[in-house]
Amino acid sequence: MAVRVVTVNRVAKLTWVERLYLPMILKGLWVTSRHFFRNLWGFATGRSEAFVVQYPEERVDFADAFRGMPVLVARGDGLPRCVACGLCEFACPTDCIRIVPGELPDDAVERTPRSFTIDMARCMFCGLCEESCPEEAIVMSREVEIATFTRDAMLYEKEHLLVPEALLERRLGFLRAEYGRERAPAAPRDGA
Ligand code: SF4
Ligand code: SF4
Repeated sequence: MAVRVVTVNRVAKLTWVERLYLPMILKGLWVTSRHFFRNLWGFATGRSEAFVVQYPEERVDFADAFRGMPVLVARGDGLPRCVACGLCEFACPTDCIRIVPGELPDDAVERTPRSFTIDMARCMFCGLCEESCPEEAIVMSREVEIATFTRDAMLYEKEHLLVPEALLERRLGFLRAEYGRERAPAAPRDGA
């Protein structure tokens, strides 16, 4: 099932009607009520298949703006794009990222994370790590099925977090459009 994408104009000033708040509250109540009665009608008449997703047999194609669990972008040679600068670790409000930096002596990019751990039990999928990264090395994926039976299993190491860049193209394209970037950061890549 495709989702409808609403583009939010973040720089628009509120009109005086919007600043009254009451019309917007009534509008919100109208939207909620409309969905409630539409669902109730579908349930009562047995015609809910048009808007009910039979999960897990059916999946929703999340919008590109969707924020699932954060993952690391892998270069063409399988190494992380991450240069272990630590900005995401610093920006993370739940303190769930741990990075141990290391070296790549024979690579044009000398720094790399020796280990990179995210505690998904603490991550709140806020996306601040993605926003702070200067290398497009950590992005929010569409993955949300991360339930486990133990807290230890929620510790995702670098090997579990790496995803090939080709599989993240939609998100990377969305980010470049969102932040006005034309392309990826211009450091030598892919073993160049
Ligand atoms: S999404 Fe937010 S909470 Fe999760 S690792 Fe990134 S900055 Fe931390
Ligand atoms: S993921 Fe980005 S912000 Fe985080 S350490 Fe690596 S390069 Fe720096």
